[in-house]
Amino acid sequence: MKTNEELLSVLPSVLSPDEIGDEHLYSSVATPLRDDAFALSDEEKIAKITDHFHEIMNTLGLDLTDDSLKGTPHRVAKMYVQEIFSGLNPANKPASRLFENGYRYDEMLIEKNITLFSWCEHHFVPIIGKVHVAYISNGHVIGLSKINRLVQYYAKRPQVQERLTLQIAEGLKEALQSEDVAVIVDAVHLCVASRGIRDTNSGTVTVSYSGKFRQEKCKAEFLALTGSGRIDTHC
Ligand SMILES: [Zn+2]
Repeated sequence: MKTNEELLSVLPSVLSPDEIGDEHLYSSVATPLRDDAFALSDEEKIAKITDHFHEIMNTLGLDLTDDSLKGTPHRVAKMYVQEIFSGLNPANKPASRLFENGYRYDEMLIEKNITLFSWCEHHFVPIIGKVHVAYISNGHVIGLSKINRLVQYYAKRPQVQERLTLQIAEGLKEALQSEDVAVIVDAVHLCVASRGIRDTNSGTVTVSYSGKFRQEKCKAEFLALTGSGRIDTHC
C-alpha cells in the first residue's frame, strides 16, 4: 500500500516512455491535457477519431466493407468521446450541492463498493474494480449519488490508478469543503491480466487518507467497515 507522498514521489523524469508504460508510472495529479483540448466540438472529435480508427483497422488488414466491421470505427469514436472518456471534459463534471448536516451526524460516512470502470492510459484497456470512499462531515453533506457520480467522472478518462485515487480524493474534498476524506481503489488492470505478464490473480490497491483519516483510529475504522481487512497502518 502506498501513501500519497510515495505515489507523488514516483516521477518518471528519468524513464523512457516504454519504461513509464510498463511500470505504470505517471507524471502529475492532473490529467495531462493540452490547452486546446476542447477546441474541437464532440462531433468534430467523433468524425476525426472515426477516420483514425478506420485506418488502424485497415492497417491490421481487416475488411472494412464487411457488414460486421464497417460500423466499428464510428461506434468506437462515439464511445470514446461520449462515454468512456467523457470525464476528460470539465463541462461533464457533476455539480454537487452541499446540504446542511441538519441531523448533526458527525461520524464517518462510508460509500463502499462503488463500481469502477476506467481505462489504463498506457494500454487503453479496462481497469475494473471497486472504490470505497469516506468522509466526516464538517457541517455539510452531499447526496450519496453525487459521490458515485464524482468517482465515475474521474474514472471516465485514460488513467493510472494512483492518479485516479488522488483525483477522487481531491474532487471529494472540493465538493465537501472538508479535508477529512479517505479513498481506497481496489482494481484489476486488464493490461496485466489479459496480456503481458497475464496475471489474472493480482489486484492493485491504492489509498488516499487526508485530515482525520490520517489518524490511526479513523483509518482502522474505515478499513474495518469497508472489509479491507487488517492492513498495516504504518505504511
Ligand atoms: Zn496498462
